[in-house]
Amino acid sequence: MAVEVLPISPDLDRLIRQRGRDLRLRQVERQHAVKLVNTLVTNLQKFLKDNKEQPFFRDMSVLTTGSYYELVKINKPNEFDIMLKLKTPRLAWTELKDYNGLFYTVSLTRRTRSEIRSFLLEDELTISSSKIMKEMHFLVRKFSAGEGHWVVCKRRLNSPAVTLAFVSENEREEILSVDIVPALEVPQGWPQAARAGPVVDKWLGKNARRKFLSQPVYFVPKRPKQRNLSDVEKESWRISFSHIEKEMMKYHGNKKTCCEGRTNECCRKLCLRLLKCLFEGLKETHQGKLSSLCSYHGKTVFFHHLSVRCEDSLWTPGQLSDCFMKLLGDFENAAQLGSLPHFFVPDFNLFSPAVFSKRSRLFLVEVLRNQRESGLPLLQVQRSPPALFYTPALPPQIEEISAEAVTPLNHDTMTFQTSSFTYSYMTLACVIVFMAIGCVFRALVQ
Ligand SMILES: [Zn+2]
Repeated sequence: MAVEVLPISPDLDRLIRQRGRDLRLRQVERQHAVKLVNTLVTNLQKFLKDNKEQPFFRDMSVLTTGSYYELVKINKPNEFDIMLKLKTPRLAWTELKDYNGLFYTVSLTRRTRSEIRSFLLEDELTISSSKIMKEMHFLVRKFSAGEGHWVVCKRRLNSPAVTLAFVSENEREEILSVDIVPALEVPQGWPQAARAGPVVDKWLGKNARRKFLSQPVYFVPKRPKQRNLSDVEKESWRISFSHIEKEMMKYHGNKKTCCEGRTNECCRKLCLRLLKCLFEGLKETHQGKLSSLCSYHGKTVFFHHLSVRCEDSLWTPGQLSDCFMKLLGDFENAAQLGSLPHFFVPDFNLFSPAVFSKRSRLFLVEVLRNQRESGLPLLQVQRSPPALFYTPALPPQIEEISAEAVTPLNHDTMTFQTSSFTYSYMTLACVIVFMAIGCVFRALVQ
């Protein structure tokens, strides 16, 4: 049963518009962050090119991906994704059973004497995702030792990224973080599960779809989340379309002129930002219960929604509240039905019980309904920016920032862990304690 879209009250309309305004990035902050990240990437490239330890990593190039570059970052421009494309001989891949085309075993088509040799399994053909990740960590850690304020974050088992964090002068606060993801390029056509291409004909046009399909796809060293993985699954790779997602975000209009100037502005990206903001609030309020929910769910429903509501005229800035509530309604429907197909690999359901427990999904449905029926109170909360907090008690050069402290990560596996709600409560608790001490003190001196 589809959710009922209630009429939008003037209060709710005002709230959505207000939050939308707050979410716009401040240009100055953005420029500063971009400068820092660009310098880091240039230095990292140089370091890898000249590195003596691992010749395989010398021949790589940089692809930028992720939500900052798609300009849908919420609150602060403080998370970046950088893909490092590694050059390989010709590859072959096999779909892992039970993962509907999302995870693969990747191997060489023939034995080789080239540098990739050190990253193969015993059969001398299969490329080990864990060996690549281990080396990437080692190299980035070595690189960061000479980079002042940049430190390497603790490794997360299921993440394809090595995260570098830029900490402030006094090393108390993390200013921004960069996820570095090694990737293997697959130039010879998309795997079968994605062969049909994304459904964008009505929205972006047939030409755009053809253009996407002519681009290579990538494999990133990420294994499935499930427990008790087999040895093969532990060494698997996940297919990534983030370069195409980036393009779809950038050229998101039905007509080429969308968002070219102020007169052609639309509210599509702002709707996604609002949805992400709501996810963040839900995860913070119900910690642990919604750990499977990530920004990729939002992005996926957004793409599906855009491919149906494709006309630019439906997305003028004046229709923001209406558009956002429709997008939210679609997401609630998907959660209720337990069906959210991956946009590029449609047989993979992001709400299948194996990756999103039924209990957690039903809880999500309930909290979404509550939010909708009570006028989205979570959007009313003025959130502090998702800055990361440095723990001074830990040693200063490596692993300062625990996996839990990193938030929000900019990947499909994105988790919001540090809580600005917790932060607000802590601040409130401190104020109360100080006031109490003040009262006692006054009572004593009187
Ligand atoms: Zn637009």
